[in-house]
Amino acid sequence: PLKDRAAVVTGSTSGIGLAIATLYARAGAKVMLNGLGDAAAIEQTRAALEKAAGVEVRYHGANMMKPAEIADLVATAEAAFGSVDILVNNAGIQHVAPVEDFPADKWDAIIAINLSSAFHATKAALPGMKKRRFGRIVNIASAHGLVASPNKSAYIASKHGLIGFTKAVAVEVAEHGVRANAICPGFVHTPLVQKQIEDRAREAGISEERAAKEIILAPQPTKEFVTVEQIAAMALYLASDAAAQINGASFSIDGGWTAR
Ligand code: NAD
Repeated sequence: PLKDRAAVVTGSTSGIGLAIATLYARAGAKVMLNGLGDAAAIEQTRAALEKAAGVEVRYHGANMMKPAEIADLVATAEAAFGSVDILVNNAGIQHVAPVEDFPADKWDAIIAINLSSAFHATKAALPGMKKRRFGRIVNIASAHGLVASPNKSAYIASKHGLIGFTKAVAVEVAEHGVRANAICPGFVHTPLVQKQIEDRAREAGISEERAAKEIILAPQPTKEFVTVEQIAAMALYLASDAAAQINGASFSIDGGWTAR
């Protein structure tokens, strides 16, 4: 379904971003990977995906805290692939602390990576998308873009902001063939959440298994983690022609969390 499309997926060396990049490549899109990590491991991932999917897969190491590097990520993909048709703003980090103890540098980093990077990437991608009259922007927000929990102020502010930014872009460029939508996952068992499981298990003096089920999954009625493949399936749908009239929307995949 994505034959002849080219995609940039930020934060795609791990977790949800890697699953989206993998599904996009398997659906025929050329893909630009991005994210942090060990260079040799990233190259292995890139080469394996390129081979398995039979499409061009590249990697750009832009740091999502650096606007100039983000612009270069999009420009490099456009030069290599001839277009950036799909942009997935996925890179994100978490830090858990009460507001009065929240380190200011962590606040700034979370706002930069989770929110401002989506602005910088979108700004860089829009001229080409408008010129070609086709663009699909998929922003990976969170259940925490819709509701709050204690001790995650920066993350929650960034994700509420990302949903707002999604709507702003959607209404601004709707007549140019560009769509912007957000996905709001509940808890997905990625490295980002594994750290929280370990911290909670240590604090409560219980096993990681119990911490996952009884503490982390407490707000998620199914008491099961969402999978990265389930998020990727929605991201593929939003990039497909079937989603042409979906714009400015947010889709919860959270086992019923935000239905409470
Ligand atoms: P992850 O830690 O597995 O992946 C995060 C990715 O972002 C990695 O590729 C990492 O290298 C990259 N990244 C981090 N900082 C970066 C930087 N400065 N520059 C470039 N890349 C950077 O986490 P994940 O769970 O897959 O998270 C992906 C997105 O999904 C995030 O935006 C996260 O907030 C969101 N999300 C996750 C969950 C969950 O439960 N895991 C739930 C809702 C939303």
